[in-house]
This record gives sequence, C-alpha cells and structure tokens, in this order.
Amino acid sequence: MEKGMPLLQKCTAYTEAVLNDLKTLVEIETPTGYAEGILAEQKVLRTWFEQLGAIVDIRPFDGGANLIASLKGTGTKKLMLLAHADTVFKRGTLAHNPYRIENGKVYGPGCIDCKGGIVLGLYALKLLKGQGYTDYGTITFLVNGDEETGSDASRALIVELAGKHDAVLVLEASKKNHGACLARGGLGQATVTVHGVTCHACRYEQGANALEEMAHQILQLRTLSDKEAQSSVSCTVCRSGEVANAIPDTAVCQVDIRYKTQQEYDRIVTAARNFAEHPLVPGTKVEFFIKAHPAFPENPATKAMADKLKAIYAEIGESMEPVTSPGISDANYIYPTGTPVIDGLSFAGFNSHSDQEGGDAASIPSHLYGLTRFLQEL
Ligand SMILES: [Zn+2]
Repeated sequence: MEKGMPLLQKCTAYTEAVLNDLKTLVEIETPTGYAEGILAEQKVLRTWFEQLGAIVDIRPFDGGANLIASLKGTGTKKLMLLAHADTVFKRGTLAHNPYRIENGKVYGPGCIDCKGGIVLGLYALKLLKGQGYTDYGTITFLVNGDEETGSDASRALIVELAGKHDAVLVLEASKKNHGACLARGGLGQATVTVHGVTCHACRYEQGANALEEMAHQILQLRTLSDKEAQSSVSCTVCRSGEVANAIPDTAVCQVDIRYKTQQEYDRIVTAARNFAEHPLVPGTKVEFFIKAHPAFPENPATKAMADKLKAIYAEIGESMEPVTSPGISDANYIYPTGTPVIDGLSFAGFNSHSDQEGGDAASIPSHLYGLTRFLQEL
C-alpha cells in the first residue's frame, strides 16, 4: 500500500476534482424537509457511488431520503462512514450565497456542513479503489437526509447500521490542525407546560395563574445548571396569556438543557420532573416533556482511534489536535450503541450555519490523505 508523500501527491492531484464535485452538490439546494432537493442530491450520489462499485439503496421518507452505499471487500473489518445531505439553508439561498472560491476558501450553503464530508469520503473510497485496496469486509456509507433537525427520520437507521459495524467515522468538518472531534455534549429540548384556571384579573383568587406557576418552575429550573459539571439549564422561550385583564390558564416554556454525561442528564431530568409534579400555585398542573439527544463523552475507544489518526498525520509531517464540541451531531446517537465512533473527519471548516460557512480548500489534500489511510489502518 502506498503511503507518505506519493499518496499525498495523489490526494493533491484530486483536489480540483473534489471541489468540482462539491460544487455540484452545493448547487442542489437541500434544506431539511425539502424532499425534492434531497432526493435529487441522493440521485447524483447514487451515480458516483455506483461508479465505485457500490451497491446503493435510496430510502425516501416524508421530507427527504437516506442513501446507503455498500462496498464489499476481501477482508473482515466493517467500517461505516456517515455524512448528511441536508443543510440549514432555505431554498433560494444560492442567489445571494452561491458556491464560490475566494482566497483559497470555498463558500456556499452546506459546503462544509456536510457536503464537503460527503465528497471527501467519496474520494477516499476512490483512492482505495485506485490502489486495488480491498482489505475490508464492508464499507458502508450512509448519507442521511435530516441531520439538521435531529435525524428523526434517520436515527433508527443510523443506530441499526452503527450496531453492525466495527467503527463509525462521522464526516462533519474538522477544526484547524486536522482537529477531529472526540466528544460532544448532549442536548435536551424540553417543554414545560402549565395548565391553570382563567378568570377576571380582579378576582385572581378564583383562578389559578399559569404564568405565576411558570415563574416558579423557571426559577427552580435555573438552579439545576452546574458550571463545574458543564451542565446548563436555560429557559429560552416563554408564552402565556391572551389579554391583559384575565388570569392566564396556560403557560408554555422551552428549555435548552446541555450536559456532558448521562449521569448529569439523569440528575437534571429527575429534578425537573419533580418540580413539575409539585406545583407551588394551587390549582395548576405542570407537564414536563423532553426530547433528548444523548451525550458523546470522551472515551477510550474514540481516544484510541484518535491516536491512530495522529500517527497517520505524522507520516506526512502533520499534526492532529483533537477537539471536543458542545454541539451535537449524529455521533451522539452512535456512541450509546457501543460501536467506536469519531467525528470531524472532513476537511477544515468554519462559520457553519451562516452565510460565511466555508471550508479551507488548502486542507483538502492532507485530510483526504488522513481519511484514506485511516480506512486502511482501522
Ligand atoms: Zn449543521
């Protein structure tokens, strides 16, 4: 197997092709939920994966489509690559934020979150094929279509496939210096709803003020943040009342909950449910609902993968400085399956989810080298 400078030169030679294919993907708008665009993107990918000899299965769902490409090798390892086709950018974004390259940086909606990762993964597979490398059992490439809203329609598939593989590589953008992501915080999206009893504001004692109870709930919830444990519980959006002269019978508050470990999640949610079960304003009832995205904490399996990646970058005289991130990705759903997972394996990106979302085109060759060699060494 080729490695070191000869392989890096091949990666460098591919950079223009990587950018051309990235342009094709960016120029198909794929906001989450826009089935037509996401399906069109997946059909382009189907052609590219089939050219590599992969078996491709596109599975449409309401508002999008997932694509599973699988390559069969002659070895035993089962590796999975994961990237998403959807973006946070509304239809029509290309008109003011087109695909472009300026000063060595590539810009355009979704160019690094996560279309750059899709293309980098494709070219890593292309390099393996070009070298006749088949020492793997299976390489499965899942391109899901709803990551940006929490992978509701693809989560079961992600978890099922991850459970059948020996390692999962998530192709979100890397940070500078090949910074792969070794841990991510968990996110809980909670809603507190208070039901009370309305009446004229001047006869307040005959009603049950939902807004007042919500105030109690909010002040209790804020005590659950723990700076040392890096947990936060923040009430962010609150609505109550229809008119100024009536006691409100409903109040709804959204709560953003961040945590690093499952224990912290359990601590916070147990306490929040307890507050909900014991309202302080007589006559009110409180519901606590949470949609939880598990934490992807630092762990030995991911650390071992990172060490391997560091050694690979050393082959070309480069470093790899791992990072952790507060934001969630699909890696958060994979970690609980027990399959080793590492994230941030695309090329370097910045300002995701903004009109200035971009990628460092100069980092493509070394990242392509890192990913290709990683697939061989895992
Ligand atoms: Zn994103």
